[in-house]
Amino acid sequence: MRVPALILAAMVTTVTAHAADCGPDKLNTARTIILKREGAAYGTNQHGALPLNKGEVVLTFDDGPSPEYTPMVLKALSEQCAKATFLMIGQHIAQQPDLARRVVSAGHSAGIHSDTHPHMAALSAEQQLEDLQRSRAAYKTVFGMETPAYRFPFLEETPTLLKALKEANITVASIDLAINDWIPEDTTAILAQRLSDSLDKAGSGIILMHDANGPTAKALPALLKVLKDKGYKIVHLDWQ
Ligand SMILES: [Zn+2]
Repeated sequence: MRVPALILAAMVTTVTAHAADCGPDKLNTARTIILKREGAAYGTNQHGALPLNKGEVVLTFDDGPSPEYTPMVLKALSEQCAKATFLMIGQHIAQQPDLARRVVSAGHSAGIHSDTHPHMAALSAEQQLEDLQRSRAAYKTVFGMETPAYRFPFLEETPTLLKALKEANITVASIDLAINDWIPEDTTAILAQRLSDSLDKAGSGIILMHDANGPTAKALPALLKVLKDKGYKIVHLDWQ
């Protein structure tokens, strides 16, 4: 996919150093894309694509941190030396500050995903902005800095929040592909097949998953194996 020069100019790309135990038998993290803190938006669900090569994917996890399932997700990622981006709910950050910090301490990046996960379009402009402010405040309290990224609940964008995020230099983190991992009955085999099918269709991109979802947390080792077996490379998204 052709990448506009403007997007390339806005980024610095570095190669991630691997720990000694992250050998070729592991999935690993191939490289890191470091985005500027600016009001950009990525993810072909609604916006332009990140400058990824064919076969490169970004792992993202929404709705955490969850005391029950986020530790399982962190363990599975650590075992494969894979770095991801976690889009956290403000109220969950406030409830689980140590776990939120543990995610970032493990080398992952974090942004916000609203404060209470509402359908934003059903709220007044004032209510939308209040939710955004609360989630930004929760992030800042726990991480000591402004969130670099925001993902809309249900990926339902609103003009009010798009404008506010742009003015605050917060990246809108949309997605390119998903595994629809919100059905409680889904088994590891179903999620793995869905990931495989989505990868075949998209070829690269930002993958949406949910670290607050039990079936996803349980399936993650198998999902990472799908990526490795199909030869996909992990790109870690981070911000300056
Ligand atoms: Zn969500």
